[in-house]
Amino acid sequence: MTDLSQPVAQPVVGIQPDNPDAVPPPLWLLAELTYRCPLHCAFCYNPLDYTDHSRELSTAQWIDVLRDARALGAVQLGFSGGEPLVRDDVEVLVEEAHKLGFYTNLITSGVGLTDKRLDDLKAAGLDHIQLSFQDSTQQLNDFLSSTRTFDLKQRVATSIKQHGFPMVLNCVLHRYNLPHVDKIIEMALAMGAEYLELANTQYYGWAHANEAQLMPTREQLEEAEAVVARYRRTHGERCKIFFVVPDYFENRPKRCMNGWGAVFLGVAPDGAALPCHAARGLPGLVLPNVKETPLREIWYESDAFNRFRGLKWLKEPCRSCEEKERDLGGCRCQAYMLTGDAANADPVCDKSPFHESVVKIVQRAASASASTCAGTAAPREQPILFRNDANSRKLASEAREPGGSGGSGGSGAKP
Ligand code: SF4
Ligand code: SF4
Repeated sequence: MTDLSQPVAQPVVGIQPDNPDAVPPPLWLLAELTYRCPLHCAFCYNPLDYTDHSRELSTAQWIDVLRDARALGAVQLGFSGGEPLVRDDVEVLVEEAHKLGFYTNLITSGVGLTDKRLDDLKAAGLDHIQLSFQDSTQQLNDFLSSTRTFDLKQRVATSIKQHGFPMVLNCVLHRYNLPHVDKIIEMALAMGAEYLELANTQYYGWAHANEAQLMPTREQLEEAEAVVARYRRTHGERCKIFFVVPDYFENRPKRCMNGWGAVFLGVAPDGAALPCHAARGLPGLVLPNVKETPLREIWYESDAFNRFRGLKWLKEPCRSCEEKERDLGGCRCQAYMLTGDAANADPVCDKSPFHESVVKIVQRAASASASTCAGTAAPREQPILFRNDANSRKLASEAREPGGSGGSGGSGAKP
């Protein structure tokens, strides 16, 4: 197993084909303003032990992050969380980002997005809003978020359009709501969304803990894909629909984050800098913090951002693979969660010696589907683990015990 606590000897290999030694600047900054959230989604991508990282950066510290990231070259900025609107300084940060020349996107559950805040965000220069729904039905939306928020989200969607914002509707897909894809698309069309992101669940964080509950069957995915293709043909001009098949159903991995340390720079609520959303789950990877290290140094020189950058770190079978420049060996977090070693080939790849673990997960989902009824409670023997502070504290404390999983979403190799 690769020891991530040891720094790499040779830093920095970029992935620009014409200049492989150059490190590109970050293009996309994700500011995770807080882990606080009024919702309790079963698929939340926040770390399981988020309660251990709850000390948030101040407004002034976030403004420094925005300035430093823009100076590095970042142009796209997402404000997310948790629910970013639980902070009362989002308008101040949007105003600063707008002055700096960022294209800004607010990623929200809708809770807290009042007309007054929409007015203020418009005045501050916010460009775009991404509103999440859990389903097209109140029953499932409220069940999966463990809150009564469906009606509120509908009202917020109307207000977003009345304020003239371009809107992305986002819905995370899984076994429960894949059969409703047509209704979800109809809902997005009725709301006037310019974009609909049908984001098949990525199995990190809380989704990983609930994988047995959420994993769909291949038939469900194929049916949903056919529905999406039909709507694209008939309504593609009105609403652009994104639908990405989850990795587990492919034979080759995706180029995760478009390359580690190549495009994406995340900053967590406590200031930890993240090469990918789920990097906190990789044991031994020491994440630099913007409170202690300048952002430029973090991006270009830190071990965390250089560890899986480019191609030089690849192990076999990726090292000698003729496809390596296409996918860069896939997702590091998936490799860790399913093989116990983040430097292994992503086991989604059928050239990986661990590919069987992915096949087994998909087979398990197929056999479990008979015993699970969409829209109702999950099988009794393994109830859904909702994302909330009590569960997070419990998991964090278990992870601190000798032999614990690390607590941020990874759980080591599976049988
Ligand atoms: S996924 Fe749900 S619980 Fe997690 S941050 Fe988003 S709205 Fe909150
Ligand atoms: S062996 Fe590695 S580089 Fe080759 S296709 Fe599979 S994951 Fe990609």
